[in-house]
Order: sequence, then structure tokens, then C-alpha cells
Amino acid sequence: MHLILLGPPGAGKGTQAQRVAERYDIPQISTGDILRGAVKEGTALGRKAVSFMDAGQLVPDDLMLDLVRERLGRDDCSEGFILDGFPRTVPQAEGLEKVLTDLGESVNHVLSMKVDSELLVKRLTARRVCPDCGRGYNLQTQPPNKEGICDACGASLIQRSDDVEKTIRNRLKVYENQTAPLEGFYRGKGLLHLIDGVGTIGEVFERMVAGLDALNSNGEL
Ligand code: AMP
Repeated sequence: MHLILLGPPGAGKGTQAQRVAERYDIPQISTGDILRGAVKEGTALGRKAVSFMDAGQLVPDDLMLDLVRERLGRDDCSEGFILDGFPRTVPQAEGLEKVLTDLGESVNHVLSMKVDSELLVKRLTARRVCPDCGRGYNLQTQPPNKEGICDACGASLIQRSDDVEKTIRNRLKVYENQTAPLEGFYRGKGLLHLIDGVGTIGEVFERMVAGLDALNSNGEL
């Protein structure tokens, strides 16, 4: 099961990819999480990526492809994976095809989550995350039990540095200009499935699973 989850920032890709990964027992590969880890650790990749991330811009394709080539070559990807936040440009999608061909694999399906942009801005400004365990919250729809504290591990929640309105609007523009064309790229290959991303986390997840199970029962996964 080699899946790609597309969708603008705030569509819920991370949340849904995590659930899909658990359900089908495949790793979730979030390039945003990998980059944030690299920035936190101060690695060479992190030092190169941080200024792009804080401006809401994309990290250059060659860096992203090196990162993904290394990650997909690990043993835990042998039965499949769900990519969340990659590819984000047509050259990344083309590079991914080459990486997978070298591994004797190919993408099976691309799920694209659709959410209206004003709702995305609302969701992203209300988003908080746990810097220790990575759990996500939304101050309006999914607040922690105790204000500012992670329910799972007790750490103090933070707002991502790119979740401020100016950067959010920039990220949405970047998505429209550079990532949305991937829908056409994958539609042309017959791999694209649109998913309505509006609703509760559980409702959206049920839609995704219904779609994936239908593909599975057709022998397409
Ligand atoms: P995300 O957590 O997926 O929203 O990613 C956060 C930031 O990491 C993005 O705004 C980009 O700066 C960077 N990033 C993550 N994935 C990619 C990618 N595939 N290509 C370029 N930049 C990326």
C-alpha cells in the first residue's frame, strides 16, 4: 500500500495520515515532521531548511528528494507507507517516481483532501502541538483537558512558528501555485481520489477508510 495524502496546510493531513497508518499498519512519513526534527536537532538539513519553513516557503526539491530517498529505502517501508506532505511540487512527484522505480515500487493511490481556505486559516491559527510527543490540538474544536498542557504527556503545548496568520496565508498561496497542480499530474495517471475534508476527525477518517477499503476490495491495493 503506497499512498500519498495531498491537501493544503490545515486540511488535517497529519491527523488522518496517522490514523490511516495505524489502521493499515504502514509507516506515516511526514516530511514536515522530519524537517522540524532536523531543525530541533540542529543538523545540516535543519540549518538549511529553517529559513524556508519560517517564511512559509518550500524547502528546495533536491534536499527533499535526498531526504525521501533515504527514508523510503528503510526496512519499515517494504510493505508500504503513507506520505504526508510530500510531494509538494511536480519535480518532487517526478523524483519520487524515480526513487520508487529504483526500489521496484510505485504509488498506488493519491488521496487529496478538500477544505475551503477560510476554514483552513481558522483551523491553523487555533492549532497547538505538543513539542514532546507530537500530539495535535485545536483550541476551538479539540482543546486539551488542562489549558496549555498535553493530555498525553504533560508537556507545555506550543504554537508552530509557521502557524501565524501572515505565514499561513503564504503557505496557502504556495499550495495553490506549486502543490495543487499535482492533482492534475496524478489524475492523468488515474491515481487521484478526492476526499471531502470538512467534518469531525472521525467523519473524515471514515470517508478515507471507506474509499480505501473499496479500492482494496476491487483488488486495487
Ligand atoms: P508541514 O508540516 O507539512 O505543513 O510542513 C511544514 C513546512 O516544512 C512547509 O511549510 C515547508 O517549508 C516544509 N516542507 C515540508 N514538506 C515539504 C516538501 N515536500 N517540500 C518542500 N518543503 C516542505
